[in-house]
Amino acid sequence: MIVKENRDEILSYLEDSSNFSGGNCDSVYIVENEQEVIEIVQTANAKKIPLTVSGGGTGTVGGRIPVEGSVISVEKLNRIIDINKDRAILDAGVIVNNFLVEADSISKFYPPFPTERNAFIGGNVSTNASGEYSFRFGSTRKYVLKIRMVTGSGKLVEIPRGKFFANEKGEIKTDFLNVQIPSYVTPPIKCSAGYYSAPNMDLIDLIIGAEGTLGVITQVEVMLIDKLPERFIMIFFLPGESRMFEFLSEVKTSFIKDMYNLEFFDQASLFFLKQDFPEIPSDTCAFYVESTDNIELMEQWLQLSEKYQAKDVWVGSDPKSYQRMIDFRHRLPENINAYFRKLGITKISLDIAVPEKNFRELVGFYREFSECSGIRTVLFGHIGENHLHFNLFPVDDREKALAKQIYLSCVEKALSLGGTIAAEHGIGKIKYPYLRMMYTDNGIKEMVRIKKTFDSNGLMGRNNLFPSSLLFE
Ligand SMILES: Cc1cc2nc3c(=O)[nH]c(=O)nc-3n(C[C@H](O)[C@H](O)[C@H](O)COP(=O)(O)OP(=O)(O)OC[C@H]3O[C@@H](n4cnc5c(N)ncnc54)[C@H](O)[C@@H]3O)c2cc1C
Repeated sequence: MIVKENRDEILSYLEDSSNFSGGNCDSVYIVENEQEVIEIVQTANAKKIPLTVSGGGTGTVGGRIPVEGSVISVEKLNRIIDINKDRAILDAGVIVNNFLVEADSISKFYPPFPTERNAFIGGNVSTNASGEYSFRFGSTRKYVLKIRMVTGSGKLVEIPRGKFFANEKGEIKTDFLNVQIPSYVTPPIKCSAGYYSAPNMDLIDLIIGAEGTLGVITQVEVMLIDKLPERFIMIFFLPGESRMFEFLSEVKTSFIKDMYNLEFFDQASLFFLKQDFPEIPSDTCAFYVESTDNIELMEQWLQLSEKYQAKDVWVGSDPKSYQRMIDFRHRLPENINAYFRKLGITKISLDIAVPEKNFRELVGFYREFSECSGIRTVLFGHIGENHLHFNLFPVDDREKALAKQIYLSCVEKALSLGGTIAAEHGIGKIKYPYLRMMYTDNGIKEMVRIKKTFDSNGLMGRNNLFPSSLLFE
């Protein structure tokens, strides 16, 4: 085990991909095996030292940033222990990209990886990550078969899927703990907000998405699928947004079984891609779709583009053009972040998803703010899953205050529409007030109770999901 206590060596563990700036800790333990994790957690319990688990540090909500105590980094727990045709057993610190390459070498695929492939598999499980193929295949939750975890109280437990279920009273009884699930129900849409809860749920689903608050995940077993068949990508540049919902509805009705993803970029988003793709036609918004490679299908898509008078259609069907289309999709968040970082502007970013029947209403609501607030905005993302990222870029204090009000209004609207405040990025240390709005004070109290079941001294992932002061009320 490597122990870092020198301030300069610790600094990189006090940041992730969020703007959270309140990081602080005394030491970082870089563990090399599970036994070391058990010892650290047990010692921390004896001395009441708070612990924060650090994965790849790509999170966007400050989850791995400690506010006090010590950090346990799983970066050296990085063995791909076993990989075969159906499943893989991985240490929590395996970098997702390495896993994808290994799976590909035996013609297998792990579908729910996030766009940021430097994340660790343990981080993905802890945030219930989803990615470019979640439209077709779902999020991480669906692929986790088993978790090994050192609970916050210092006990090594193994939780396979399909073994421990909530009974009709909402209790999950095991030989290592009994837990009462929350009375709220997680909305049945893309969601990574707080502890998962559903009638008769499986215990493993409580751990998935718990953002490091219940224990240290040391190992996971995940399901693999066959390597994907050949695919092409098409990007349709439509002349404005007036027919976007008509287009969306037609695509979902006619093409869904052959689609792997469906993304949207508004005109303001396309501005940030022009430096890399100057041929983007002006005054357009874009739909990006990945589909089974089939010449007849491609022709049908082209007919659709004519019907909607697309100003241009790009096709990525050979390896070079396909990769260029992938770059198009990946560059956007990077370019947006770089542009505003340079200007010293902090973005305010919404990660809301709602049920399909209410999606149009939510987008209409966003649009009122884009048009009337005077604040620069972009709207892009996973339109196939009714999940768009609405980002605001306030330039001064007045706009900052207004952006915060807009954020709050959008959250209220999303909740009134049966949505979630965090579809993929989690809550971490920055979205608690909205989690509370989503699940009420009672729901938060239930989360506190659950945390204490796993972590009796309330040491793990302090201030993730809810302020740690609630643990000691
Ligand atoms: C450019 C960019 C694109 C992104 N795209 C996506 C996307 O498409 N989809 C998506 O879902 N997310 C996306 N993200 C967010 C991020 O990649 C995911 O949340 C990812 O799952 C975080 O993994 P990580 O290993 O980096 O975790 P970290 O940031 O290190 O930690 C995240 C949380 O998990 C906890 N944790 C980490 N490891 C463990 C463990 N072993 N045991 C217990 N708790 C643990 C931490 O304490 C923390 O609360 C993106 C981020 C960036 C910067």
